[in-house]
Formats: sequence, structure tokens, C-alpha cells
Amino acid sequence: MIPFINVRAQREAYLSEFKQAEQEVLDCGCFIGGPVVQALETELAEFTGAKHAITCGSGTDALTIALLALGLKPGDEVIVPDFTFIAPAECVMRLGGIPKFADIDAETLQISAKSIEARISEKTRGIIAVNLFGQCAPYEKIRECAQTNGLWLIEDSAQAFGAMQNGVPACTFGDISITSFYPAKPLGCYGDGGALFTANDELAQKIRLIANHGSQQRYVHEICGMNSRLDAIQAAVLRVKLRHFKDELKKRSENASKYNEFFKAVPGIAPQKIASGNTSTYAQYTVLADDRDAFIAQLERAEIPYCIHYPQPLHTQPCFKELNQGRGNANAIEACQKVVSLPMCAFTDVEEIIARLKKEM
Ligand SMILES: *Cc1c(COP(=O)(O)O)cnc(C)c1O
Repeated sequence: MIPFINVRAQREAYLSEFKQAEQEVLDCGCFIGGPVVQALETELAEFTGAKHAITCGSGTDALTIALLALGLKPGDEVIVPDFTFIAPAECVMRLGGIPKFADIDAETLQISAKSIEARISEKTRGIIAVNLFGQCAPYEKIRECAQTNGLWLIEDSAQAFGAMQNGVPACTFGDISITSFYPAKPLGCYGDGGALFTANDELAQKIRLIANHGSQQRYVHEICGMNSRLDAIQAAVLRVKLRHFKDELKKRSENASKYNEFFKAVPGIAPQKIASGNTSTYAQYTVLADDRDAFIAQLERAEIPYCIHYPQPLHTQPCFKELNQGRGNANAIEACQKVVSLPMCAFTDVEEIIARLKKEM
């Protein structure tokens, strides 16, 4: 059976390093925060070039913390993509804000700057741009739009830690940028985990305060915060994986090229376009299939696992229906009918997958 993401092969590949790092945490007895988490934060800052890297409990927590740090208030509007994982819209709604769903580009599937522009109202306070499937959103235009309109920008790089845009690393494009270490993400740990990045000292301080019960000094709580921390065992796992991450990104990219080469000759199936100037982490290798049912039938006959990222635009989710928006987002609606994601990680045997597919096509 071909795994969708081969986390077991990855564990085997670096097993002795994992065991040593995990044992060190277990033996030292420092399970939350501490030197291993601090060392990871330094390495994350070095990797991205961000001034501050602050770990937390998950990518979803990171978005909530970012919104709180930027001062989101009930009734504030935040523009989010209609076609992505639910977290950005969910976090806005959870804090009493109103998500406004912007459409995407039909080929890159990234949030459209033009559509963002069209959603701005007097109540708009910020934008959450998502780096969908592993490449950056069009930040040149998005940042210009944010600046002109006095909006803050959160970069949701849960899927794109390690990507580049015009030579600049992901996680440096937002006033606050976030990532996720959920196991299925390109850089995943063995549970939940996340991080925030910022160049702004004041925001960095606020983020640390919010993530730690609003407290700098023990049992003095300046604001009502939350508990969102990365465990040391997760930090230890991430530090091992980070040492191999550039190699893995290269392999993921080679795997994507093999898929691309194959699909070039298949009519009616087009891989997600990577915008010029972008590299991708290929958090997902996603294609647009004109006849998705037929393609899925082929995948099933070939025993190739697949996923639909995402089956419906967010504006049609039951939890957002009352907002009554987004019906005009034609590209998001169409993408939901065509997308299929294929197995992808550094350990995926794409040649085997292509050989199986060829037999069914
Ligand atoms: C996975 C993901 C998140 C949430 O991360 P968790 O660590 O699972 O909470 C947020 N945004 C996007 C775009 C994601 O893909």
C-alpha cells in the first residue's frame, strides 16, 4: 500500500537521531519550554531570517494569538481566502470578527489581490493570506493593498514553511506570519505544534505574553491570555527534522517535477501552477481534473491514495452560512469541483505511482 505521506519511512531514515534527541528530553525532565524549545526558536529564526520566532501549541493557536496581538475586536472584518483550510476564517469568527471571503486565482489557487481589494469596507482591519499547498501568495500586490488601505497582514504559512518568493523566505511577509507543525505538514512534529514570526519587537512581546497566560512575571497577569506552548519533545523532533529539511524540500521538488512531466501528456489534468518567482514546499501536490470522477476512478483502480483539498468553498460551510457571502467566488467554487491531491513527501515513490497510473489510463 502506498502511503499518502510516508512518516514511517522518514522516522526510519533518521531513527538514531530521533531516539537520542527524544531520550535527552525524557532524561532531563524539562518537558515544556526550556533549552530545547529555545534552541528550536533560534533555529527557526535563522532558517527564515525572521527577527523573532515564537513557538506555540498549534497553527490554529498561532492564528488566534496573531489576531489577538493585532487587536482584533468584535465586529472587525478580516479578509480571508474562500478556498483553503478552515482555520483562518474560524479563528476570526471565534474572536467575534467577521471573515470576508476573497476569491482565488484559477491557476495558482492563491488568494487574489484583486478580490481582496473588492472586499475592503470601512470595517476591514486586516488580511489573512494563505500560502496554499506550499507556495507563497502574491505578496507584492497584497502588501501594497494592505499598506494603501491601512490594514495589517497575517501570512498563514502553515503549508509553506521553507518556501521562497523572489529569493525571500516564507514566514517573513506578514506583520505576523505563522506556521504549523501538524504531522502532515512539510515540517511536522509528533503531535500538535506551531510558531509565529515577526520583525516587530512590540508584537513579539505581545505574542509571548498572550501565549503564556498574559504573564511575564510568574503569577502576575497583565492581560487575559491563553495557554499555548510547544512541548520540548516536539521541539526535539523538529530540530532533528530541520537538519534534513533542505534535503527533503529538494526531494519533494524532484517528485513534483516527475509528476509534472507525466501530467504534461495527460489531457484534462493540470497541476497547480507555481507562480513565477515562487518555490513550493509541495505541502500538497494538487492537480485540477476536468473530469474528476473519472480520474478518481483511475486512482482507485491503481490503489493510489488521494485527498480532496478542499471539497467546498468556506462560504458554503454550515458554520459560515449565516454570513451569506462568497457566492460570486467563481474560481474557488470551480477549484472545489476539480482538485485532487496525490501522495507527496520526500519518501514518496512517484515513479511507482506513475507506472500504476499509466496502466489505468
Ligand atoms: C494546517 C493549517 C492550519 C492549522 O494548523 P494546525 O497546526 O493544524 O492547527 C492553518 N492554516 C492552514 C492553511 C493549514 O493548512
